Amino acid sequence: MAGLGLAAAPALAMAETKYLKPDTRNLKLETRNLKLDSRPALLGGPKAFTGKFPSWPIYDSAEEQALLDVLHSGKWGRLDGDMTAKFEAEYARTMGAKHSLATINGTNALYTMLGALDVGPGDEVVIPVYTFVATYNVVVLNYALPILVDTDIESFQIDAQKMEKAITKQTKALMPVHIGGLPCDLDKVMEIAQRHKLPVIEDACQAPGTEWRGKKVGTIGLGGAFSFQSTKNLNCAEGGAIITNDSDFMQSCYAFHHQGQSANVAAYDAGKSGTRGTNARLTEFQASVLLAQMTRLDIQSRKRSRNADYLTKLFNEIPGITPAKIYAGANFCSYHLYMFRYDKAHFAGMSRARFIQAMIAEGVTPWAGYGQMNKDAYVTGLSQNRHYLKIYGEKAMKEWVDRNHCPQNDRLTSEESLWFGQNMLLGNTRDMDQIAEAVRKIQKNAQQLKS
Ligand SMILES: *Cc1c(COP(=O)(O)O)cnc(C)c1O
Repeated sequence: MAGLGLAAAPALAMAETKYLKPDTRNLKLETRNLKLDSRPALLGGPKAFTGKFPSWPIYDSAEEQALLDVLHSGKWGRLDGDMTAKFEAEYARTMGAKHSLATINGTNALYTMLGALDVGPGDEVVIPVYTFVATYNVVVLNYALPILVDTDIESFQIDAQKMEKAITKQTKALMPVHIGGLPCDLDKVMEIAQRHKLPVIEDACQAPGTEWRGKKVGTIGLGGAFSFQSTKNLNCAEGGAIITNDSDFMQSCYAFHHQGQSANVAAYDAGKSGTRGTNARLTEFQASVLLAQMTRLDIQSRKRSRNADYLTKLFNEIPGITPAKIYAGANFCSYHLYMFRYDKAHFAGMSRARFIQAMIAEGVTPWAGYGQMNKDAYVTGLSQNRHYLKIYGEKAMKEWVDRNHCPQNDRLTSEESLWFGQNMLLGNTRDMDQIAEAVRKIQKNAQQLKS
C-alpha cells in the first residue's frame, strides 16, 4: 500500500498494486457557475439537487407481455417451459461464458457452486469482510469456516495481498467479491489461487458486465455468481445465475440445484449427480422478465459508467472526497454502487453522520454502507455455535474470531465509507453536477453545519 503511510508487513508486495490513473482530460466543470454562497438546505437554504433520480425498477410493455405470455402458456416452471433455458443461453452469450445456470437468487448461485465443490464441515473458504452478508452465509450453511479478509481501503475491494495469509491446508476455495460492480484485483487473486491450486468462485452479484482485461468478471475464476434481486442492476425481484466455462462443473451445479439429480435436458449427461442437492430452480416468469430486462442492461451499464466517471472527475477536485480507486486491469465497470471516502478533516471535523444528514437535506442520499461484519454479533456468535464447536473445537473457534481481525476495514467503515445507489447513476450530467455542488456547498459551510 505505497503512499498510504501504513505500517504493514506486506508493504513490499503491495507496492505493485496499480490503480487506474485519474482521468483529467476535457474536464469542463459546469459546477464553476455554482452559487456556493447559498445556504445549506439543512440550515434553511435551497436544495442543491433540484432534479429527480430515476425510479427503479424500469420496465414497460415488454415485461408486461412477457409475463402474460408465460401465464397463458401454462408453462410456469423450467421443467415445463423453455424461457429459463432461453435466458441461460442469452446470459452465457452476453457474458462470454460457455455455460449459465439460472437460480432462485444470488445466494443460491453461490451456495450451489460451493455445493458442487463439495465444501463442507472442516473446510475453510476465504471471503472479504467488506461484502453483503450472503457471501458469508453460504459458507456457514455448509458448516465450513469463512475466513474474513481485510479491505484495500483505496479500492473498497478485498486486499488480495492479505488473502494469501488467510490460506491454510483446510482452505477449499477463494471467494472474492466485485463489490459495487468494480472488479477486485483479479490478477493477484488468480495468481494466489494458481499457486495454491485453489478454485476461485467470483461473487459477481453486483457486477454484471464488468470487465477485467477484456473478459467479463465471473468468467475468470472457476465460476461466477450473479444476483437479480430487486435492487441489483439486472432485476427480476429474486433471481440469480451461475456462469462458468467448465462443463463438468456446470453439470455438478445443475445437479445440485435440481435435488442432486441429473438434468432432464439433453445437454447434461446422466451420472453427474452429487450426493447432496436442493431446489434452486428459477421460474419461467422471472426468466421472461430477465430476458426483457437484459435488453436494457448494456445501455444502462454504459450510462452508469459514464456518469460515474464524470462524478469521479468532479469529486477528484474536492479535497476530502476520494472515489474508490479502480485496479488497472479493469476495462469496464458496470457500477452497482458509487463508493467514495469522506475525510472529515476537510469538512471542519464534521462527522460522517452529520455529512449524510446535510446531503439528504440537499436532496442527495448517501449511505454509510457495510460495517464491520467480523465484529457483528451475528458473525462472532458462530464461535458459540454447538455444531461449530463440535467440528472445529473451542480453541480453533476462539482463534477464528482473531483471524478475522480487519484493521483497514475498521477504519474505512467506521467513519469514511459512503455510497450512492445505482439508480442515481442513471440520471443525467446535470444531476452529477448537482451532487458535486451539494458536497461543495456543505464543505464551504461545514463550520456552521457541524452541530
Ligand atoms: C445481492 C448479493 C448477494 C446475494 O444475492 P441475492 O439475490 O440477494 O440472494 C450475494 N453477494 C453480494 C455481494 C450481493 O450484493
